[in-house]
Amino acid sequence: MSSAGMSIYALAVSTPSFLSVPRNLTYPRKPTQRQQHPLKIEPKSRIEQMLTTNPIQTVQNFRPVVISGPSGTGKSTLLKRLFAEYPDKFGFSVSHTTRSPRTGEIDGRDYNFVTRESFQSLITANGFIEHAQFGSNLYGTSVAAIKSVAEQERICILDIEMEGVKQVKGREDLNARFVFLAPPSMEELERRLRGRNTETEDSLQQRLAQARNELAFSQTPGAHDKIVVNDDLEQAYGELKEFIVDGGESRWWN
Ligand code: ADP
Ligand code: 5GP
Repeated sequence: MSSAGMSIYALAVSTPSFLSVPRNLTYPRKPTQRQQHPLKIEPKSRIEQMLTTNPIQTVQNFRPVVISGPSGTGKSTLLKRLFAEYPDKFGFSVSHTTRSPRTGEIDGRDYNFVTRESFQSLITANGFIEHAQFGSNLYGTSVAAIKSVAEQERICILDIEMEGVKQVKGREDLNARFVFLAPPSMEELERRLRGRNTETEDSLQQRLAQARNELAFSQTPGAHDKIVVNDDLEQAYGELKEFIVDGGESRWWN
């Protein structure tokens, strides 16, 4: 990658002002002796109360993290590591999709694999927080998916593409944080996508074209709170972890 290109990705995008100002939300109280770590949860009774009254409110208090980036960059690889290291802290928002399962993917764990008809019905029923077409398939985050994470009292992680990111950014009530995972270069991205062996030539070309749009969007000021380049896996994991785990600390008790 050219040094000019690298410098763009090396720059963490500054936090947009609307994210840095506490919104009209009920945050957890200031830490007490008993409650010092940012990832520690609220007392049970309060959580239960919030879940009963407003699951979205609970999601806000656990500030969802949205990870996006071109297909093949390594989002799933890095998230798997994060979930393995923090089995109780984070919950994956299991999306709906109309695409077919890949080898090894499990319905209800990796995605809810549905027909186009049932996806459309859920749109009509206002069942999605966000949804978008990617390539020839539909993808969406259901209200039920993030509610299910909130009920486990975990921080919700969403792995979604650019149009979904824009929709979640518009939902300030979700109080989300945004991290973009960039490939070291388009050549390496193509190599990883081909190496994964999940795409036809057609869908691979669609994904590469979409990658260019995602990379252009990532350079829009304020599009993301943090950009991590996934070149060396260890380093990328360290940076991602710092943002997701420790990056929440300073804001947690705002
Ligand atoms: P995404 O979820 O973003 O579509 P994946 O996690 O499926 O991407 O990764 C795509 C491919 O790239 C996988 O085969 C994965 O093993 C590989 N990969 C991920 N990160 C790296 C890295 N830092 N260096 C080399 N290969 C990587
Ligand atoms: P894949 O088919 O490789 O699993 O995913 C293709 C793209 O769809 C990825 O960029 C992934 O982040 C995105 N995606 C997965 N789930 C959702 C979702 O619920 N909403 C949106 N908007 N994009 C999603």
